[in-house]
Amino acid sequence: MPRYILVTGGAGFIGSHICKALSRAGMTPVTYDNLSTGHADSVRWGPLIRAELADAATLRRTLAEFSPDCVIHCGANAYVGESVDMPRKYYRNNVVGSLTLLEACLDQDIDRIVFSSSCATYGVPASLPIREESPQHPVNPYGRTKLIFEMALEDFAAAYGIRYAALRYFNAAGADPDGELAERHQPETHLIPRALLAAAGRLERLDIFGTDYATEDGTCVRDYIHVSDLAQAHLAAVNHLMADGGSLSVNLGSGRGTSVREILEAIHRASGCEVPVRYCSRRIGDPPILFANTARAQAELGFAPVLSDIDTIIRTAGPTFGLQVTA
Ligand code: UDP
Repeated sequence: MPRYILVTGGAGFIGSHICKALSRAGMTPVTYDNLSTGHADSVRWGPLIRAELADAATLRRTLAEFSPDCVIHCGANAYVGESVDMPRKYYRNNVVGSLTLLEACLDQDIDRIVFSSSCATYGVPASLPIREESPQHPVNPYGRTKLIFEMALEDFAAAYGIRYAALRYFNAAGADPDGELAERHQPETHLIPRALLAAAGRLERLDIFGTDYATEDGTCVRDYIHVSDLAQAHLAAVNHLMADGGSLSVNLGSGRGTSVREILEAIHRASGCEVPVRYCSRRIGDPPILFANTARAQAELGFAPVLSDIDTIIRTAGPTFGLQVTA
């Protein structure tokens, strides 16, 4: 009898890597995705249910059909800039859609939920590295919608006995080391994909948003975590909940900060190519430095990233954006 795990957003960049990790661990991922940003050809390890999160009837039918042991909820809109321009879309999909899912889970007696949260829930951190106890004051609608659902999980856990793992991702990057999956965002706004595209000559140049930050080289510092490490952490979270572990909120990062310039240096190391750049003014809402304290993920989930050094991230992602890397 297969052990099913429902994965909302399973056709997306992170979701598809999670499905692969689940499958390798002997579970069958059931992808629930409207394919608004995901890709049907990334769904290879289990069935695809193409439907909206807000479609309560289809959600209920799907949960009843598969009786999943756990739900991993990654399905969301995730562009910070778009969330500022179109908050209605973000509140509808990320809040109303997520609550519809949560209610459907309650109705079907599914009481284990792993949620894709974000370091965006912290806003501008009061101190570094960011610990889970740090105040959560998101500075954009995207981060607020993620925090609202974290709060709903906490309240539903207290009242209805569900158990959850809220996983606060830092910057997901890289690609499946076997080359079976890749990042395919449309539009592509993230730093590493854009820098790789520029290095490969598929983008005229990379705009660097700000060179006058109070950081060592003046550019912003972020914590990049390899998507396959992120996927392993989801597997660990599922196993934690299956073993009757309690609810938790944990950071998922590498624990190291990497600047924009250091990314460009890593691309040069891996490929010998220079990234053509243009120096621009700061992007509104960008905190200068974000990186995680990862002690809790290590202690509670046994999570230790193995692919998240910046060279491995660049080497796995490079070819998927048309950049030849040396062996
Ligand atoms: N960034 C940049 N040029 C780009 C995209 C991003 O300089 O074309 C910078 C951005 O200002 C931030 C970092 O790269 O400091 C990471 O941005 P990304 O959008 O990848 O992730 P975020 O941290 O905003 O979630």
